[in-house]
Amino acid sequence: MFQDRNIGCVECGQEFVFSADDQQYHSERGYSDPKRCPSCRAARRAQGGGGGGGYGGGGGGGFRSDRPMFTTTCAQCGQEAQVPFQPRGDRPVYCNSCFSQQRQSRSW
Ligand SMILES: [Zn+2]
Ligand SMILES: [Zn+2]
Repeated sequence: MFQDRNIGCVECGQEFVFSADDQQYHSERGYSDPKRCPSCRAARRAQGGGGGGGYGGGGGGGFRSDRPMFTTTCAQCGQEAQVPFQPRGDRPVYCNSCFSQQRQSRSW
């Protein structure tokens, strides 16, 4: 059973309603509670959401991560893609932008 809840946005500090429907949706998918109000979320999405943007290529280095990254070729756009797992060849591997495109088209 879910009830509407007010959550304070970490971005702008305003309270927004995390509705019972949304809570059910999130828990079904294993998502954690939202931290931002819908307008801040939309603003972040419009900015491109957290990615540094612009992998200029170059021979590695400067990629700050504590996980090993594997370089492979994106199955969709053919560009170099870095993935946090070892590509095994039995499934297509996508670069970050193709991967998030696929994810969006699937869930919406
Ligand atoms: Zn906000
Ligand atoms: Zn790609």
